[in-house]
Amino acid sequence: MHEFKEIFADREAPAGRVVRAIAAIGSVSATQLVKSTGLARSTVSTVLTDLKDRGIVLEGETRSAGFGRPTQLLSLNPTQGFCAGILFGLGEVRVAICDLAHTVVSDFWFEMPQDYTPSDAAVRVRLQLEEECDKLGIATSELLGVGLAVSAPVSYEGQVLNGSILPTWCGIDIAQVFSREIDCPIFAENESHCGALAEMTWGAAVGEPNFVLFKFDLGVGGAVVINGIVQRGAFGNAAEFGHISLNPHGPLCRCGNRGCLETYAGGFNLIRLAEQATGERISIETFIERVKAGNASYRRLVEDAAEMAGWGMGITSTILSPPLFVIAGKLASLGEIFITALEKHFARHSVQPPPHARHIRNPKIMVGKFLANDDTVLGAVALVLHQHGRVTA
Ligand SMILES: [Zn+2]
Repeated sequence: MHEFKEIFADREAPAGRVVRAIAAIGSVSATQLVKSTGLARSTVSTVLTDLKDRGIVLEGETRSAGFGRPTQLLSLNPTQGFCAGILFGLGEVRVAICDLAHTVVSDFWFEMPQDYTPSDAAVRVRLQLEEECDKLGIATSELLGVGLAVSAPVSYEGQVLNGSILPTWCGIDIAQVFSREIDCPIFAENESHCGALAEMTWGAAVGEPNFVLFKFDLGVGGAVVINGIVQRGAFGNAAEFGHISLNPHGPLCRCGNRGCLETYAGGFNLIRLAEQATGERISIETFIERVKAGNASYRRLVEDAAEMAGWGMGITSTILSPPLFVIAGKLASLGEIFITALEKHFARHSVQPPPHARHIRNPKIMVGKFLANDDTVLGAVALVLHQHGRVTA
């Protein structure tokens, strides 16, 4: 396992590039490896022969690729390494551990005080990881990496850029805090970006290298994926779709601007409007239930949210023209109720193909697989599998 960790961490050697490409995709053909690593076919072939001899790469099922011989799929020996993902919630922390075949071998959560600090979390995570790694027969330091999903943008250096649901974490160097406790590579990213990685690895965007994710939850977030890479922008805060300003005189947003998409389509806003109308305090879950039950006032609130959300997506489509929008977050659990309204308003605010160019299709809008926040923990694991957002040396 130690030998594999060294190969996996080597960013330059062909073997490192090959194993990281397989880790990101799961199971892959030699032809796909040539394409995704940019290495010569002969180099990939030599590396694969060596990795198979050493028991690191396994030849799996064959897949028929149209005419010609079936394609042999390659995967990593799952016992060669494990990755951990951590999600920081309000009053709880969730941890998942996966093997290299993308199978979750451990998934648990533990409660924390509401105002816990990153240092408190790092100590508890270390203790819990030690316990779980012990069951797997490995030391924590043998993990290929630990991914941290944070409910705020994270800089390339590992600094939390704003507060979101854990406001006191703003400005904290999360890379430094966790590397003091855990002796393995640390990766950290915004949870919407982690969500996109989870959808690419296990969910609605498997096999789709270009897509845009919109997450409609209590807040609104998102991710842009181009050629299989989640785009972070110059500072790490790309795709903050919740803060697309749609009305310069609109409601004041927590970011300091007015009329941001989140102030219209964020779950916090929908709950507030529902509470104003009914005088009753409700959770986002209750809100969702009442929409599904057909309550006319709640349905109207969703329609209004979808109007602004479709407008925001239309702006994004005008800039990027993605083939696919993946819709995540709790509002996406409304399924067709929300998606049909989004499609209607997206069509009103995006460039539509003319009748004589029917070969130009509109992007597909589909519900993601991971709708509850806690499943974003898988995206934190995927940070390690995709070697995305590494914040320690
Ligand atoms: Zn804003």
